[in-house]
Amino acid sequence: MQACTQEEVNKVMESAKSAQKLWAKTPLWKRAELLHKAAAILKDHKNPIADCLVKEIAKAAKDAATEVVRSGDLVSYCAEEGVRVLGEGKFLVSDSFPGNERTKYCLTSKIPLGIVLAIPPFNYPVNLSVSKIAPALIAGNSLVLKPPTQGAVSALHMIHCFHLAGFPKGVISCVTGKGSEIGDFLTMHPGVNCISFTGGDTGIAISKKAGMIPLQMELGGKDACIILEDADLDLASSSIVKGGFSYSGQRCTAVKVVLVMNSIADSLVKKINEKLGKLTVGPPENDCDITPVVTESSANFIEGLVMDAKNKGATFCQEYKREDNLIWPLLIDNVKPDMRIAWEEPFGPVLPVIRISSVEEGIHHCNASNFGLQGCIFTKDINKAILISDAMETGTVQINSAPARGPDHFPFQGLKDSGIGSQGVTNSINMMTKIKSTVINLPTPSYTMG
Ligand code: NAP
Repeated sequence: MQACTQEEVNKVMESAKSAQKLWAKTPLWKRAELLHKAAAILKDHKNPIADCLVKEIAKAAKDAATEVVRSGDLVSYCAEEGVRVLGEGKFLVSDSFPGNERTKYCLTSKIPLGIVLAIPPFNYPVNLSVSKIAPALIAGNSLVLKPPTQGAVSALHMIHCFHLAGFPKGVISCVTGKGSEIGDFLTMHPGVNCISFTGGDTGIAISKKAGMIPLQMELGGKDACIILEDADLDLASSSIVKGGFSYSGQRCTAVKVVLVMNSIADSLVKKINEKLGKLTVGPPENDCDITPVVTESSANFIEGLVMDAKNKGATFCQEYKREDNLIWPLLIDNVKPDMRIAWEEPFGPVLPVIRISSVEEGIHHCNASNFGLQGCIFTKDINKAILISDAMETGTVQINSAPARGPDHFPFQGLKDSGIGSQGVTNSINMMTKIKSTVINLPTPSYTMG
């Protein structure tokens, strides 16, 4: 993948800046129309883009196709939502604030920020790009995408669909290159007016370096799954297997630690193991459930967590097996808080189980994490579920289902080191705009029907 030079980045920023001025003057309905067109073209190009995802990031063929279709739907939804959200402003009158007569009428509207820099991670190079691109464009911003190096070919094909739809030159651009090499130059570029980033701890470093611009940060997670004694264990075990092992665990909202009450732990572990035994392991082209993780260094990192747990006395429910980047699914039982895997994000098909003797112990473990993305609770008692949900320090809590990012119009946010701001279509549109007020000052108070 070609690495853009700093001079090339400067040229892209200049072109994005001048294109944005005209784009902001393009009627909202027309912006929406182009987005709808791009969404249709994206869906038409489902197969070639999905093929790239399979080859670049080893995503199973079916999931790769789903990612592209879901992305097209997101773009269309964003176009419709943008027309509503940006199509109306507020009208305020001054006499609602103490001491004022009705002499001031305030009209507010939402205006674009300028250039939005989007940096998505490798695991959803298409979906997590369009979740930034579509809100930025509908709001009248221009957008510069820095795709993940692994996933960049898929992202370039996706960007091509926007160009085919007829977006004016410079409104949407792509800058390739390794984040470690051009990342600082991009994120500290004076032309950038907003950064929307999804990824790991890099986001924390970017937040410290970026200037006085709005930031949207979606970072890592250690999503806990708390299982109460009255839980439906069939539902819980299938949700844990799907939530923990889909795309080989390389999802921000994967279940990353199971906190199960002692009395039901044996039954739950047995059910999870039965389901894990049915997962297929192999190449993404064969639509296997478990495919190779994205890099050798990721596989080595996962192995480090696994071996640390083993050395400290955890119970392996399956034999640990690895061939190059392919790691077989592994449930690690009797994990204790002194093990790294109790706290760190493996981003692979290995899942720790911690047996707890009280709900409070589970909540305490969840809240002691530096992450706070999502969490989930399995119980038939909705009253208990609400109390636990309120006590969990995470951006979202799922009741009787595994954590999930979608549907894409739901608000999505992390607390603590899991992020800044909130995504979801509506929140992203709002975040990529600024309020502009115009105040009409009247010489004398004016009252309706006065
Ligand atoms: P990552 O290493 O942080 O990379 C994310 C993106 O940042 C990539 O495009 C990367 O480019 C770029 N980058 C790297 N260094 C940079 C720098 N100094 N300046 C600017 N950009 C830089 O994350 P990843 O390994 O791709 O993804 C896994 C992580 O993402 C996990 O922690 C996961 O939990 C998190 N994630 C979070 C969410 C969420 O919504 N909260 C969703 C998905 C994933 P290169 O590829 O060129 O290095």
